[in-house]
Amino acid sequence: MSRSHLLGARTADAYRRDLRAGADLVAARLTGARGPFTGITPERLAPLVDAVDLDRPLGDTTAALAELEDVYLRDAVYFHHPRYLAHLNCPVALPAVLGEAVLSAVNSSLDTWDQSAGATLIERRLVDWTTARLGLGPGADGVFTGGGTQSNLHALLLAREEAALRTGADPADLRVLVSEAGHFSVAKAAKLLGLPRGSVVAVPCDERRRMRTRDLARALEDCRLAGRIPMAVAATAGTTDFGSIDPLPELADLCELYGAWLHVDAAYGCGLLASRTRRHLLGGIERADSVTVDFHKSFFQPVSSSAVLVRDGRTLRHATHHADYLNPAAAPFPNQVDKSLQTTRRFDALKLWLTLRVMGADAVGDLFDAVCDLAAAAWHLLDADPRFEVVCRPVLSTLVFRYTGTDPAPLPDALADEANTRARHALFASGAAAVAGTRVDGRAHLKFTLLNPETTLDDIAAVLDLLAGHAQDAVQDPAHVGEDLARTL
Ligand SMILES: *Cc1c(COP(=O)(O)O)cnc(C)c1O
Repeated sequence: MSRSHLLGARTADAYRRDLRAGADLVAARLTGARGPFTGITPERLAPLVDAVDLDRPLGDTTAALAELEDVYLRDAVYFHHPRYLAHLNCPVALPAVLGEAVLSAVNSSLDTWDQSAGATLIERRLVDWTTARLGLGPGADGVFTGGGTQSNLHALLLAREEAALRTGADPADLRVLVSEAGHFSVAKAAKLLGLPRGSVVAVPCDERRRMRTRDLARALEDCRLAGRIPMAVAATAGTTDFGSIDPLPELADLCELYGAWLHVDAAYGCGLLASRTRRHLLGGIERADSVTVDFHKSFFQPVSSSAVLVRDGRTLRHATHHADYLNPAAAPFPNQVDKSLQTTRRFDALKLWLTLRVMGADAVGDLFDAVCDLAAAAWHLLDADPRFEVVCRPVLSTLVFRYTGTDPAPLPDALADEANTRARHALFASGAAAVAGTRVDGRAHLKFTLLNPETTLDDIAAVLDLLAGHAQDAVQDPAHVGEDLARTL
């Protein structure tokens, strides 16, 4: 009976049983994982996935879960493992995981009051909670989004509309200024917003990878002299690679002077809002016109949980469209679709709500502080290690470094590039740990993104030894590239 698979009054027991079975399976993986990854290759995994006949259902939850074990769970990448040190993925807070289960079962949709009721009020409370922590003032508002990329797009849409209202400028004359260490989603947003090629101006950074105020002033002045409109300055509070925070007060002064919208991309740095020791690092963010926060990065929330916040809630009307069937202009109810780029929308706010109600913000902030402390300690380790060069001291929880070797002398740059890249791939293929890679000034580097308070300095030291070993192997036999490796290089 196909109806027995629909969640409803008659299936409450099956709901309890199925969720329990799924949780048991994941729990076994959590306790059993020896590394963050098994090292499986797409070539070995794809045949298993391809062999599943999607037109022949198993008809049975137990069998489907057993199959899922083979095609996904056994070889997934696990972020809770203390040696997962690669990207901005966090271990997730238990109350948030519970929230995820609740929100998908009730399946509220946040577009209109008549599809959400209390969910709309809860989201609004959390928006207010966030704008209060940001210090955006009494007129502030915002909305949850699917991620930082969407939040940045949304903020820049508002900036574009405000610039058009204020100046009547042709979109071709609009410019967005962002540091060279800013996130690529800013350029993507500019493209989606119909701004021309070259509309995003990359402002140089100082040696700590923060936007250089002097260069921003020059770029703004260049805009003015050329008759262009600086539609927005997109500051970054926590760059993805370096965790660096642009000098927000100075940027806010310049934005005021040139009439530019100040957007602060705090997708990563937003965890500081909960920190009891580092909140001051976000000083100046209260002067932003809009802010991106990714709770799914530094608030230990499952993907997705993100929001865009604005100083002047009225600017959110630029995303409003009144549909007769959904949210007519005279609707007496709070309809979040008036503020959102999405229509049907998940109740992601519930995860943060339960996290704050069970743990509280201080506990979240303490977790983020712990990984920032760990990064500071790991910097000393790296700085004292002659095998590696570290780019800059961390402000948040990332470290960008490069294997250079010492014996008999540091490697030539090109060979070091290859050694670093191959060491990263070999480590990932071994499954023992995962680190990220990036390029700095054109040279291949390695990156730790630390978001797991369970990671210890011993873990870091052990992973550095593994990386050095793999790098050394690559150097000693540069012609030998393993079969799996060759494809990924
Ligand atoms: C991760 C990140 C983004 C993009 O956020 P998503 O949630 O991945 O879409 C934007 N800006 C910065 C600084 C980021 O680190």
